[in-house]
Amino acid sequence: MHHDVIVLGAGLAGLAAARDLVAGGADVLVLEARDRVGGRVEQVCLPDRRKVQVGGEVVGRAHTAYLGLAEELGLKLVPSYVAEPGDITRSTPDGDSTGDPPHWFGPGDMTLHQKLTDEFVAMARTVDPADPWSHHQAAVLDRLSVNGWLRARHASPAVVRLWEIGQLGLAGGSYERTSLLAALRKSAAVPSSGHYDYDDWEGLRLEEGSATLAEVMGRDLSPHIRLDSPVAALDVRPGRCTVRLVDGETVTAEAVVCALPVGPLRSVAVTGVSDARLASLHRQRNATAAKFAAVYDEPFWRKRHRNGLSECEGVLGSTWPQGGAVLSALIPPERYGVLLGTPPHLRIQELLAEVAGLFGEQAHQPRAAYLRLWGTDPWTQGYVTQWTPGDVMAVGPLHGTHEPPFYVCGSDQWVAGYMEGAVRTGRAAAGEALRRG
Ligand SMILES: Cc1cc2nc3c(=O)[nH]c(=O)nc-3n(C[C@H](O)[C@H](O)[C@H](O)COP(=O)(O)OP(=O)(O)OC[C@H]3O[C@@H](n4cnc5c(N)ncnc54)[C@H](O)[C@@H]3O)c2cc1C
Repeated sequence: MHHDVIVLGAGLAGLAAARDLVAGGADVLVLEARDRVGGRVEQVCLPDRRKVQVGGEVVGRAHTAYLGLAEELGLKLVPSYVAEPGDITRSTPDGDSTGDPPHWFGPGDMTLHQKLTDEFVAMARTVDPADPWSHHQAAVLDRLSVNGWLRARHASPAVVRLWEIGQLGLAGGSYERTSLLAALRKSAAVPSSGHYDYDDWEGLRLEEGSATLAEVMGRDLSPHIRLDSPVAALDVRPGRCTVRLVDGETVTAEAVVCALPVGPLRSVAVTGVSDARLASLHRQRNATAAKFAAVYDEPFWRKRHRNGLSECEGVLGSTWPQGGAVLSALIPPERYGVLLGTPPHLRIQELLAEVAGLFGEQAHQPRAAYLRLWGTDPWTQGYVTQWTPGDVMAVGPLHGTHEPPFYVCGSDQWVAGYMEGAVRTGRAAAGEALRRG
């Protein structure tokens, strides 16, 4: 059957695009490789009705596209872990501390940290997040890593370590291998007084569970979605785009909205799209991370006057409470290999031991624990976008743009991944496709 639009992928981006296309009167088919919708948002429902997020979880007040969609769907946003009372814990092989400054700071480090933060924020104001390539020093800033810039600005090793532990906590790839231009672009997309304001980026979550956003859209769109339908090839022609599934079946449409993550997209044979666009799309990469979640009867970290938030130098990069006495944690790309090298039957036990080191022995007795290896999941092959030095220029201004009848969306097509990027680019792609008829 010939459709108006075929959407590849039923993550937040593909679903948001399909929803707007259907609302705009288009005949839409969504093809999804997995047996469920949601992609990188996924939740497990416990017998006591608590929902555990094993993928994307929190959003911020600056994430206007996501917040708008949640409102349209009648879903409620509540404060996230950011509102939890108590202090952050920082844990390194040489000790632990709560709050600021961290235990490895010496005299002068806090002042230096603040001065460099101010410099970074001021520099970010000179970058247009929609067009970082137009910056007069774009290539120079892109070649530098964030840590390289910090050292060039005479940051002490202690200050570099604080920036690095924070970045590993976010699991987007070490600041040793993050383009300064990409970091400035991300900061410019959500301007604030710090270089990553937790309220702006992470202060909210959906009360019903983050993955509910995808589940609700998936339910509404169910007649248009085909699950268990991995795409193998795509040929783009004006008036007739042909999609071939892995099982050999072909389907056709006037236009295609590609909402696949950049890793799996490299395995799809694409013809009829310019070499420059394919080179740009294929150049993008994702940070490979894993998520760990442990379910408890009570938020026992509070007994130690901790808020459950931590930045660590173990295999875990960070922890934070999901709400409902569930503790989330990320394993950053730099430690992912260590996790894979750990015998599978020991992984959860060793991660719980790290949590116990942070918050107490009760950590060893969760009701349930989940470890999701997103970095090696075949339909994700990553976690969020990673921009290593040189990548912003190499990917170039085609990033996040379209080549009708081939439209591109997905969190990887925004400045830094995130659910906001998925919803924002999904809706923008649908708008563009509808505008062009
Ligand atoms: C562990 C983890 C924690 C995160 N935490 C946060 C957070 O707290 N806040 C936040 O904002 N963001 C977070 N993110 C990022 C956020 O979840 C993602 O950026 C966003 O959900 C991606 O949406 P998407 O639609 O672009 O891609 P995806 O969700 O990856 O959707 C792409 C879809 O394409 C499908 N697919 C792949 N290949 C094929 C193929 N060949 N044929 C057909 N279908 C295919 C996939 O199965 C998938 O369903 C997190 C991500 C992870 C993994």
